[in-house]
Amino acid sequence: MESLEFKAEVQQLLHILSHSLYTEREIFLRELISNASDALNRVQFEMLTNHNVLDPDAELAIRIDFNADAKTLTVSDTGIGMTREELIENLGTIAHSGAVAFLKKLEAEQRLGDIIGQFGVGFYSVFMVADQVTVTSRSYLPEAQAWTWTSRGDNTYTISPAEKRERGTTVEIKLKEDAAEFASEWRLEQIVKKHSNYISFPIYVKDKIVNQQTALWRKSPNEVTDEEYAEFYRQLTLDYEKPLLHLHIITDAPVDIRSVLYVPRSRERGIFRLRTDYGLKLYSRKVLIQENNKDMLPEYLRFIEGVVDSADIPLNVARESVQSSRAMGHIKKALRGRVLKALKELGDEKPDEYKIFWEAFGAFIKEGVATDFGGRDELLPLLRFPTSKSNGALVALSEYVGRMREGQTAIYYILGDSLDTVSRSPHLDAFKARDLEVLYLVDPLDAFMVQSLREYEGKPLKNVDDPDLQLPDVAEVQATQETATALPAEVFGKLLLRFKNVLGERVKDVRESKVLKDSPCRLVSPDSGPEREMQRVRRLIEQDYEVPLKIIEINRGHPLIQNLARLIETQFANPLIDATIEQLYENLLLLEGLHPNPAQMVPRIQTLLEQAVATSAQPA
Ligand code: ADP
Ligand code: MG
Repeated sequence: MESLEFKAEVQQLLHILSHSLYTEREIFLRELISNASDALNRVQFEMLTNHNVLDPDAELAIRIDFNADAKTLTVSDTGIGMTREELIENLGTIAHSGAVAFLKKLEAEQRLGDIIGQFGVGFYSVFMVADQVTVTSRSYLPEAQAWTWTSRGDNTYTISPAEKRERGTTVEIKLKEDAAEFASEWRLEQIVKKHSNYISFPIYVKDKIVNQQTALWRKSPNEVTDEEYAEFYRQLTLDYEKPLLHLHIITDAPVDIRSVLYVPRSRERGIFRLRTDYGLKLYSRKVLIQENNKDMLPEYLRFIEGVVDSADIPLNVARESVQSSRAMGHIKKALRGRVLKALKELGDEKPDEYKIFWEAFGAFIKEGVATDFGGRDELLPLLRFPTSKSNGALVALSEYVGRMREGQTAIYYILGDSLDTVSRSPHLDAFKARDLEVLYLVDPLDAFMVQSLREYEGKPLKNVDDPDLQLPDVAEVQATQETATALPAEVFGKLLLRFKNVLGERVKDVRESKVLKDSPCRLVSPDSGPEREMQRVRRLIEQDYEVPLKIIEINRGHPLIQNLARLIETQFANPLIDATIEQLYENLLLLEGLHPNPAQMVPRIQTLLEQAVATSAQPA
């Protein structure tokens, strides 16, 4: 017999667990069953792909036994088993550093049991109920020896050779005094039904099978209740929130598909998923062949959870053949189509639920628009944006198009950092004056996405800072020109020149605006290519970002501009003039979401304020 020390992290974890006040201690059984089921899946896979397996005829099953007088409980399986090295590696260490600190926090919040299984430390939860645990295991490898691992949940465990003829693992638990309740038939049956009902191998308590076993996805949808779908989701993901949506997909041609997919309710649970990677559980005729398959859905749908079973998938599926197999291609196409269709229906029929979806996963749909050219028609109806007319509510493109003004030929959008800045943008002057709706694209991803979103239902998408927008009926805004007559062309010309001198290389041109109404000036792009959307993306990701060259347009009718022009006429050298021009320019960068460092403006603003206050304080 050999005595070994647990790794420091395990010691800490065991300390937390054995002193835990966690009320749902029963989850230890779920964790042991889950390990047994994993072990059975793995040996099943070995038997199908490799013929040299110990005890090939043993029933693939999980057995739970107990002795109420002795207060003992055993959970055994005929799974893949463990060698001596595997016992030490799997039951003496923790794969994830950081897991313990996190679990400590959850312990304090009484939420330990919800997610312990997701940290690759589920096994240790048995120490919430055990004074002593003995694991005896024999690997499936024909020449393997059996070994016993024992621990009292303190800092050490022992390993010694054992006698065990059959393949698999037996976990013997000496229950704590206050955990005697678990040595009871009805209690065990109740726990199995609650947490492990859909485990696909039979679970015996004494000699009776107590779990339902039937793979849910192989049933007919009209035999499955909503509660059962929700319960299956919970067992699959350990997410305690109900899913937002479930889909049950069954097809026989051109390929066989039995699949249950879920849209979760929030993205948050992501932080708990240290261990589990994303992906669907892939089965071939009920045999689990991949835990996190990433090929069955496009990458942008990676938030979808679920199971896919298909008789057309080869068992020895290597990664390459997954991608090249025709059956896989069919399945992927079918699943994507069904998911996107279900999301569209949710959007059409249950806008409130859809809003929850959009807030959690809208970013993934945008990623899809940017990456999945073929999925365009299914993806665009899923997009939602706030607009200049929606008061913060989300609007679909179809809704926008449905209320386009007569004569309006394009869909307009404005890019920026927040609803607050875009709604104040000078670009909107012309649109407000014409009662034109503008989409507010304020998510950092939007700049990226909009490059591949050039049109919707034949209507081009146009950036409001496009230099050559053809807006309908300009007549009514020409009102600005009336006031503009107060500023003679010659005086206005000098003002434009002054802007040019002050801003120099930083702007491409200075010119009069034809569209501004309430704002003194605005920046427009010299060209309308996708390049300028990329500039925004670069600002977020590049160190040496440079403010792009723009054209500054001046509103000849604006009081600020008119006063500034007069000041140039009367006090050419007044430093206030250049400071105002600088500040106007930087205000625009800020509004555009292009300013590299807004804090730099503070000293100038201060100077301007000092002058304004000083002027006002002078006796009249
Ligand atoms: P996880 O199951 O998330 O990996 P656990 O702490 O539950 O984490 O188990 C740790 C490891 O111990 C498992 O990954 C597995 O390799 C091994 N193990 C536990 N129970 C069994 C079992 N019944 N049969 C075979 N291996 C097991
Ligand atoms: Mg486990």
